[in-house]
Amino acid sequence: MNDLKELYQELILDHSKKPQNFHVLEDATCTVEGFNPLCGDRYTIYLKVSGDLIHDVSFQGSGCAISKSSASLMTQTLKGKTVSEARQWFERFHSIISAAPGSSHQVKDLGKLAVFSGVSEFPARVKCASLAWHTVRAALEGKSNPVSTE
Ligand code: ZN
Repeated sequence: MNDLKELYQELILDHSKKPQNFHVLEDATCTVEGFNPLCGDRYTIYLKVSGDLIHDVSFQGSGCAISKSSASLMTQTLKGKTVSEARQWFERFHSIISAAPGSSHQVKDLGKLAVFSGVSEFPARVKCASLAWHTVRAALEGKSNPVSTE
């Protein structure tokens, strides 16, 4: 895949137009802001965690199609998961978007997140795709300072 247009697959466009879990979470147990100055993506991630379980995840904010659809799919992926499962998803997602171009990286078990595998060929877009994930990881580690990709 060498064409940027191919990166914007239908699933990505759908989620950027109609993001899931795109609202404020009134009873959030932690809230962290994430900012990607390269592109101008800015989101707030809301998490409701009790014990080891992520009961709910939502987000608000604005940015490009890649960052918004990535945040949307992330909230769908992490809802109902444990904190340690969420960390595994983070590692999995990160290895997909940062894989060396041309490498035959395993995308099985990624489900819908596999649509982001093409992002690795566009370094400027990697930060867009990973912004929400970096932000949620910081939140799960108990950090409350805004996350910046720079
Ligand atoms: Zn972006």
